[in-house]
Amino acid sequence: MTLLACTCGKVEYEATEPAILSVVCYCDDCQEGGRRIEALPDAPPVLDADGGTACVLYRRDRVRCTRGAGLVTRLKLRDKTATNRLVATCCNSALAMSFDDAKHWMPLFRTRLRGKVRPLDMRICTKFAPRPANIPQDVPAHESFAFSFIWKLLGARLAMMFGR
Ligand SMILES: [Zn+2]
Ligand SMILES: [Zn+2]
Repeated sequence: MTLLACTCGKVEYEATEPAILSVVCYCDDCQEGGRRIEALPDAPPVLDADGGTACVLYRRDRVRCTRGAGLVTRLKLRDKTATNRLVATCCNSALAMSFDDAKHWMPLFRTRLRGKVRPLDMRICTKFAPRPANIPQDVPAHESFAFSFIWKLLGARLAMMFGR
C-alpha cells in the first residue's frame, strides 16, 4: 500500500501495489497544468527542475481517497477535455489525474507519494521539454510518446511487462 497525501495532511489517498508504470512527462498539457497549479496560493512544486511532471500510474480501481474527499477539486485545462487534475483545496497540492472516459488507470503525482515508490521506467514527450538536451539519460526517453496513449500502445501487456 502506498500513501498519497497533500502537504497539510487533510487529504489522503491509498494506492494498492503494484504500480503499473512510473514516468516523467514533458508534454505541453502537463507543463501548463503544473504551472497553473503552482500559481495557486502557497502551492507546493509540481514540476521538476527540468520541466517534467513525475507520475506513478496505478489501476484506477486500486486507488481510493481515504480522507478529505470533499476538499478535492478538479482542474480542466480546456472545457471539453476528459482529463482532470485533482487538487487539494486545503493547501493547493496537486494530487493526481483522473479521466472522465473509460481509462482504467490513474496517474498519481510522485511528489505527493510517501514510502517506497516504483522507480522511474521512462520519460515521455521529451521533445516538448523546455530544454530537451538537459533531460537526464537515466531511463529510456520517448520523444513524442504521449501520456494519453500509453494504454493504447501497450495495452494489457503493460501489466505483464512492468508489473511486479
Ligand atoms: Zn492539504
Ligand atoms: Zn503529459
